[in-house]
Amino acid sequence: MKTEFLIVGQGLAGTILAHEFLKRERNFVLIDEFRENTSSKISAGIFSPISGKRMTKMWNIDELKINLSETYFSLEKLLACKLLYEQNIYQIFGSVKEQNDLTLRLNDSNFSKYININPKAEKDLKQPFGAFEINGSGWVDVNLMLNNFANLLIERNLFIKQQFDYADLTFQNKKWIYKNIEAEKIAFCEGYKNNNNPYFNYLPFVPCKGEVLVIKCRNLLTEKIIKKGIYLVHLYDDFYKVGATYEWNDLNETPSEKGLNFLEQKLTELINLPFEIVKNSAAIRPTVKDRMPIIGSHPTHENMFILNGLGTKGVLLAPLMAKLLTDFILDKKEINNEISIDRFSNYFELGS
Ligand SMILES: Cc1cc2nc3c(=O)[nH]c(=O)nc-3n(C[C@H](O)[C@H](O)[C@H](O)COP(=O)(O)OP(=O)(O)OC[C@H]3O[C@@H](n4cnc5c(N)ncnc54)[C@H](O)[C@@H]3O)c2cc1C
Repeated sequence: MKTEFLIVGQGLAGTILAHEFLKRERNFVLIDEFRENTSSKISAGIFSPISGKRMTKMWNIDELKINLSETYFSLEKLLACKLLYEQNIYQIFGSVKEQNDLTLRLNDSNFSKYININPKAEKDLKQPFGAFEINGSGWVDVNLMLNNFANLLIERNLFIKQQFDYADLTFQNKKWIYKNIEAEKIAFCEGYKNNNNPYFNYLPFVPCKGEVLVIKCRNLLTEKIIKKGIYLVHLYDDFYKVGATYEWNDLNETPSEKGLNFLEQKLTELINLPFEIVKNSAAIRPTVKDRMPIIGSHPTHENMFILNGLGTKGVLLAPLMAKLLTDFILDKKEINNEISIDRFSNYFELGS
């Protein structure tokens, strides 16, 4: 089989990159081993212009947001399903200090344009210090998107369900040969499994395990994303996703008792209603040392590319990263050093 691109990995990174290639009418084949507990599959899919304890404005938010809307609307059309839910984040204050800190920052119009300080109070939540809202936020149904996109590729004979074995990849006559596939270019999007990739495992990933719950809770009746240390996203009917934990030492894909207890405890401190835990899941986020994504080409191997390092913000980052990587590959547009793989060239030299 001859193709222009071979993509390895169909998480958020591989899916959005493949979608970008479809838009630009390029040929590709995608390989994924189809595991259940991947970062993308269990993700809550939340995006926000402001995040973290310090309420930091997201890097390059305007460009990220434009690409986010365009990409997920385009995927909704292609896959004939609803994926993008634009919803405010209802953020509950933990203390008077948090209220004061926020008030001080409202003088900065670049920050305050995302904040509503007098939201309508949401019912059945424990909120003695009140709450504010973040606009420009929402969530994407990532799991549905990945399933439907895989089905579309299967129908078009563009999907291979198997583990990619790096030992079977060779470069002959300026082509990448993998089993019966002859590709002009190869793009790796394996998330934290990049650590197994002999071409790119020199990159400084700091994988981070995360756990989430699906709960059933009657009468909560909110259409906002609720946040206070943890988040609560309404999925459908009485079902909500609750997350997440951050763990850098215990790196396996199995849910832990510690993670379950943490989320259950935080949830009890957040809502006034009884709830039932329906499911708990764990996966590993592909986080990079400097917390920025990685795109670009391999330092020495021709026509070999990477899109990875989406960390905790894959939904917001993936659309712009896929566009910039495709611009780089097809139109030779330079990649900004903040997100380019070239910022780690010293790690490559040390390892080789
Ligand atoms: C608990 C949790 C909650 C999260 N919540 C959010 C959130 O609310 N918002 C947000 O933006 N982000 C969130 N994230 C982060 C987000 O999920 C990641 O940024 C994103 O999913 C990374 O996507 P990826 O495609 O790079 O990696 P992955 O999702 O890990 O996908 C990699 C794919 O490559 C495949 N693969 C790897 N190696 C091979 C191989 N050798 N052969 C074949 N296939 C292979 C895997 O099967 C997988 O399908 C969350 C993560 C976790 C764990």
